[in-house]
Amino acid sequence: MRHSSQLLISFPHLAENIKFIQNLCPTSALLPMVKANAYGHGLLPISKFLSHEMKIKQLGVASLGEAMAIIKDEPALPSRIYVFSDSEILDPDYSKIYLNHDIVPVLHQITDVKRVVEDRSFQRVPLVVKLNTGMNRLGIDKEEWSQLASLLKKNNRIEIDHLMTHFACADIKLKEGDRTHRQYEMFKEAKAFLETEGIVVKTTSVANSGAIEQKFGIEESFVRPGIMMYGGTKNSLHTISKLQAKVLKIREVKKGTPVGYGNFVAGDDGLVVILPIGYGDGVLTSYSGCKLTVNGQACQLFARVNMDLTYLFFKRENDPKIKVGDVIDLWNSDPHSIVETADQMKTISYQLFCAVSSRIPRNYSVL
Ligand SMILES: *Cc1c(COP(=O)(O)O)cnc(C)c1O
Repeated sequence: MRHSSQLLISFPHLAENIKFIQNLCPTSALLPMVKANAYGHGLLPISKFLSHEMKIKQLGVASLGEAMAIIKDEPALPSRIYVFSDSEILDPDYSKIYLNHDIVPVLHQITDVKRVVEDRSFQRVPLVVKLNTGMNRLGIDKEEWSQLASLLKKNNRIEIDHLMTHFACADIKLKEGDRTHRQYEMFKEAKAFLETEGIVVKTTSVANSGAIEQKFGIEESFVRPGIMMYGGTKNSLHTISKLQAKVLKIREVKKGTPVGYGNFVAGDDGLVVILPIGYGDGVLTSYSGCKLTVNGQACQLFARVNMDLTYLFFKRENDPKIKVGDVIDLWNSDPHSIVETADQMKTISYQLFCAVSSRIPRNYSVL
């Protein structure tokens, strides 16, 4: 545990992001993703805030274990929890969990659907079905749609509560006829096919953050925002967290002075600012070399990130006027900050959020 580094999370920013998304999608309900510890922001506090304060009626996780963690903490949470990938619906013991809680498996292959519709005791489990429309990860393939229809009819479960698909590249600027449009066309074709087979499709969803930001697929019953709700895209309203560390030590160095493990030397005269945060806290070694702005001054994550410590280097002419104990933001509430760092690292903001380890306390502000 740390006291001098933290992930500081703003509930008001989260609330504004939610309202921003609701304004973009006035006709659909939100099914926000809280998987992976709410993208690093804390599964329980974020889920409870969305459910109680924002009145969100459905939340998405990746695994049954995540859903169980929410229910264990708050058995009466007034929201339905969807388990998107690792549902364990084929496990004889774990699948029984779905009978006793408002947790719903997303059925993403024929065997999952079979498991639910052929067992009478699962009659009250809503049918949530994911189709593959070209991402080729999870989802029922086009070749299997008629099998899906017959399976449902044979077992007298002709209502699909929620039919969905997932886009592979909705974060890329949309163009007529591109992969995302083709995926959406295929989804509509599937829905029409199922309806001609006599299946009732009650609700639908297709849009993740990339699609929502481009107002694509937002006329469906639900939208499924993840990263934009946390503020990890450049078009987000706010990044809801700041990754902060208090300066531990400041060292003046001359050009050529070696610093830290390995043979890293200062390229100029300047200041080495040592922060109590390292790869043991989720500041991956690949942060090394990233350029940041601190107190309006350019600096660089310098030398190799250690397990417990990180160095910032300021050239002499870029004096940040900081002292030991001052707080530095590795990212702040301006979405450009985490997005540009991720770009420099050739990774995605999702990974930077998720990397923040359990040694970093998550603190929540209501202001
Ligand atoms: C994670 C996930 C989302 C959210 O994606 P973002 O890119 O974070 O908005 C939506 N739908 C499904 C099926 C997902 O797995």
